[in-house]
Amino acid sequence: MKGISHWIDKRAFITPERQALIDADRELTYLEMSKMVHHFAGVLQSKYSIKKGDRVGVLAKNSMEFIITLFSLAKLNAVVVPLNIRLTVDELQFQLKDSGLQTLIVDRDNYNRGKELLEKTHFQHLLTFESLSKAETETLTLTEIDPTAPYIICYTSGTTGKPKGAVLTQENMFWNAVNNTLSLDITSKDKIITLLPLFHIGGIGLFTLPVLLAGGTVVVPDRFDPELALNYIEKYAVTIVMGVPTIHDALRKSPNFESTNLSSVRFFYNGGAPCPEELIRWYLLKGINFGQGYGLTETSPTVFLLSEEDYERKVGSIGKPVMFTDIRIVDKEVQDVSPGEFGELLVKGPNVIKEYYNLPEETNKAFLQGWFATGDIVRQDEEGFVYIAGRKKEMIISGGENIYPLEVEKVIYELPEVDEVAVIGISHEKWGETPLAFIVLKYGANISEEVLNEYCTRKLARYKVPSAFHIVSALPKNATGKIDKGTLKKYYVKEVMK
Ligand code: ATP
Repeated sequence: MKGISHWIDKRAFITPERQALIDADRELTYLEMSKMVHHFAGVLQSKYSIKKGDRVGVLAKNSMEFIITLFSLAKLNAVVVPLNIRLTVDELQFQLKDSGLQTLIVDRDNYNRGKELLEKTHFQHLLTFESLSKAETETLTLTEIDPTAPYIICYTSGTTGKPKGAVLTQENMFWNAVNNTLSLDITSKDKIITLLPLFHIGGIGLFTLPVLLAGGTVVVPDRFDPELALNYIEKYAVTIVMGVPTIHDALRKSPNFESTNLSSVRFFYNGGAPCPEELIRWYLLKGINFGQGYGLTETSPTVFLLSEEDYERKVGSIGKPVMFTDIRIVDKEVQDVSPGEFGELLVKGPNVIKEYYNLPEETNKAFLQGWFATGDIVRQDEEGFVYIAGRKKEMIISGGENIYPLEVEKVIYELPEVDEVAVIGISHEKWGETPLAFIVLKYGANISEEVLNEYCTRKLARYKVPSAFHIVSALPKNATGKIDKGTLKKYYVKEVMK
């Protein structure tokens, strides 16, 4: 198998004039993109001696250069460490040290933080996209690429503990691209708008790389701003809008939503976090295709996608496993459960990581009988469509009964006053644990704790009804827009219980 930068070079040969990348003020054809990838790789190799296995961090907002850097490092068989720009310098130091990073590439906005990191962590080179672009063209000695060697060390967002570096290979990324391309019929006519951050696997794998494999176009705004996104969707006739629920929610709430021409869009797609059914139905009712998938960092990321013919019929489902990836749903004894029963989702396939970086024990724990254990509880219906119940770690055990927060959240989301909700478990003297709900109300809405309690009691078994409902102005979110339940729990313990 060839390395992933081959895709761009081959496209530059077959369809050199087609658009590959678009950002605020530039458009690059495949030929131009291929030349730029070659140039960056040449400079990194001859000026900074970057070679196979070297770890190179990227601390930058979304841009063309970010994507060019991903491909140029692939050309050198080097390892990219995408760094979350929302982390503090102290938090970033952990990832820099853990990955043994030698070079850091930053954009202009992150240059000062790069300098601070250099002073504290003493890696070898601090480079900017600008310096790479402007450097004199250097010759590039091409070496044979090993697609099974580490390519990206992606730190999981840490919502369930200390970040672990998932080691993804170019082979993993290839199979993820193939899986997505086949399931969603991605072609060279497609244009994706990359609204997820490229420092997260979601931004890279959904669907930036798949669209480039297919020879389509990637539109890259430098930040998520709903009005800017809508403007780009119309201006560049975008066909795929991928996001997490907060993105789709912000888009529909934009004052420009109704006046934006969305006729080019084949589908909006959700992944990465539980999506309220109300949000999906809202788009569907407007006649807009809205699909859902599921994935995680360790699977590069896609495992499930819902096909277009099932968007309306199976609202709430994450669909069926993608072409070259298999799943099992198992009980505690690792026995397959029957349709309708809850169990842990296990995944196997060429898109699954082989290891966490330098963590043999964690790697060992992550696999059951050779299958990657996702830690997510799911159930499958008779037709094979899968539904997420929630994370095993978030499951609340109250008086010996299992409560999946998502099930409770779903009920609360049915109330028209509710904008966002998160249910967490906290310890309880009598029951061991008890659920609590944190609710953000829609602008101007009002609802009392009695009404919430009465509604939940009507819809849920008694033990699932939250023991308290806290109305808050906002919920903590991580960089990809996921509700950060760890922070919420800490906030509760610190502020509410004191
Ligand atoms: P950490 O592993 O450190 O806790 P994280 O879980 O947020 O961080 P990611 O790999 O970004 O790391 O997220 C994967 C998780 O996101 C999945 O395990 C699952 O819990 C959740 N998820 C992904 N897609 C969906 C979806 N469509 N619906 C519900 N949950 C989803």
